Amino acid sequence: MSEKYDSNNIFAKILRKEIACNKVYETNYSIAFRDINARAKCHILIVPKKAYISLNDFSIKASNEEKADIFSVISWVAENENIKESGYRVLTNVGEHGHQEVKHLHFHLLGGQPLGGMIKKLEII
Ligand code: AMP
Repeated sequence: MSEKYDSNNIFAKILRKEIACNKVYETNYSIAFRDINARAKCHILIVPKKAYISLNDFSIKASNEEKADIFSVISWVAENENIKESGYRVLTNVGEHGHQEVKHLHFHLLGGQPLGGMIKKLEII
């Protein structure tokens, strides 16, 4: 059985304006705001407004407009943060193995400094 969206997650509350965020940009379909626990000089979260748990959900249910929008928002934010030329990283954590903490799809945009290797090499279990 597929997981049910929990509308009490923190990003749903931000989208309903029940709690504040440090907003960077917004379109009809997406919002971008600074991560509260920045892992790099620039750490921004790009979040679709509709209730998608993860990329699994989004890739099946989102419209082409929403899909195009999220990529254009990522690109807009990278440009606006002046990290387009120096480089950056975009990632989304999915599910248990992906260590996804907030169950509303979000893309992390990280940059503004060298980010090192992708992830530490893991022990294969
Ligand atoms: P993930 O582990 O991919 O689900 O990442 C969740 C991210 O949300 C973490 O990087 C948190 O620091 C960030 N976060 C949690 N609460 C807030 C909040 N209220 N405003 C901004 N970022 C948040």
